[in-house]
Amino acid sequence: MKLELTDDEVLLLSSSPREEIQKAVGLARARIEMAKSRPELSIEEARFLADVLDEAKTRGVLVWEAGTMFSCPLCKKRGEDILYRSGTRKGKRKSMGVVHGIELANRFVRVGNNVTLGACHECLSKESLLTRLRDELKVVPVQLPAHLYVAGASNWRKIFHVRCESCGWEGLETEMRRLRSLTGSGSFFGGCLKCSAENRWFGQTLIHRLATWVMVQA
Ligand SMILES: [Zn+2]
Ligand SMILES: [Zn+2]
Repeated sequence: MKLELTDDEVLLLSSSPREEIQKAVGLARARIEMAKSRPELSIEEARFLADVLDEAKTRGVLVWEAGTMFSCPLCKKRGEDILYRSGTRKGKRKSMGVVHGIELANRFVRVGNNVTLGACHECLSKESLLTRLRDELKVVPVQLPAHLYVAGASNWRKIFHVRCESCGWEGLETEMRRLRSLTGSGSFFGGCLKCSAENRWFGQTLIHRLATWVMVQA
């Protein structure tokens, strides 16, 4: 069984020792607080803001990329269904329509037609929401896309820890040796600092990213 709970209902679980429930309780609290302290925003916008802040704090990076969704989580706008234009099924639904918008969550795998953390273009071009977003993010150590960065604020970069399979060296991605890129016009962090191991475009990856990172002021 899968239940969708409201933020208030999630708070009722606050005595549970389970880590994922504690996380959900923390986020529900942040969303409720945000809605209370920002009466100028709609409840959906306030929740979205709390979710973006949570993503920024826990992942250290936000992006600004094209994304599609069946409906916008902020304004609830839905895409127009695509219908068969001829044949026996003429007028019947061929596929569900989508709304075009922006994805803020940086994920390696994307689930089709559902942004992880995003909204439609219209919602994310509202100055009231954007100004709030930029304002709240100013004080969070997070790597930001240009759209969310305020001139003069600290510029952060997320840098992963890496480990070399050959010699066991562990360090930061930016401490690796720079290798010439394929086209020869640039370079990338690809070599172990302590041994000759190198990550090549079409070869083995010998130096792997770990699950931990640091935020560095650029
Ligand atoms: Zn929208
Ligand atoms: Zn090494």
